[in-house]
Amino acid sequence: MFTGKTKNLAVMGWPVAHSLSPVLQMAAIQQAGLDYAYITLPVRPEDLEDAVKGLRAMQFRGWNITIPHKQATMAYLDEVDEDARIIGAVNTIVNEDGRLKGYNTDFTGSMWGLLNRGFDPDGKKAVLLGAGGAARALIWGLIKHGIDSICIGARNPAKVAPLAQEFSKYTKVESMHWETDEFRAVLRDADLLINTTPLGMAPKTEAMPPVDWADVKASAFVYDVIYTPLETMFLRTARENGHETLNGEAMLVGQGADSLKLWTGIEPDRAVMSHALHTALTTK
Ligand code: NAP
Repeated sequence: MFTGKTKNLAVMGWPVAHSLSPVLQMAAIQQAGLDYAYITLPVRPEDLEDAVKGLRAMQFRGWNITIPHKQATMAYLDEVDEDARIIGAVNTIVNEDGRLKGYNTDFTGSMWGLLNRGFDPDGKKAVLLGAGGAARALIWGLIKHGIDSICIGARNPAKVAPLAQEFSKYTKVESMHWETDEFRAVLRDADLLINTTPLGMAPKTEAMPPVDWADVKASAFVYDVIYTPLETMFLRTARENGHETLNGEAMLVGQGADSLKLWTGIEPDRAVMSHALHTALTTK
């Protein structure tokens, strides 16, 4: 039950009604017996600054940020964590007595999923498909976990080149068109293949990035950050070709758990969060 002392948390986005963050956050909050509420806040882009000021004024303890506010919110904060600054986006705000600090837990969440499945990026070669916000978080997570090299396959490599250049001061990062012999050669050597495009996401579940599984080595681990559907066509064909696979559920749970830890200081029960999310995804 909420009381006058209940602290407030939220997820802000536009639209935001589809968000499953309240489901997994409230599951962990209740399991830990914490006195927090977590709600959704639909905020139009043109209202973002007012909304940030409002949450500060109303003494929200913190909030998550989702599309399309992850970059724009940074301008209204007092401080941005170093990892979030490098990634160029925040998904978590912590309010310390009126001082707002932004963090990015997408990158830690994306790595939690991988590490939890026993894949250690240290010294490995990765290929990413797509180069948007999710890719930036993954690239930084992989770099922080010692990845040897990253190749970004995209439909528009010229657009991706600045991103590859930006991160190549940390490790070897290159970009190329994903339908070239050059890309296929890199793919043959990859230990990890990640789809970060929305291709295959509901409702267009028949779509998938142009990967010929004959080009992917048998031991490669295949990851798709999408979680609706639970198994995209990309992951299904990977599994059918003998690859170990991981969907986007763990990334969502991982980022949520890391956000809740920033707000409350407790280590949330990730199994409880995973169960709540999986139940919501399978009973929709
Ligand atoms: P984004 O910033 O819009 O980036 C999407 C990337 O995919 C861009 O590189 C884009 O290329 C490419 N792309 C989009 N449509 C394409 C198409 N039809 N053909 C080829 N390439 C295409 O999106 P995002 O925020 O990174 O999200 C990407 C996916 O990750 C979404 O499905 C999202 O739901 C998922 N996600 C999951 C989690 C999680 O917790 N599991 C977290 C974040 C995101 P162009 O620049 O050429 O358009």
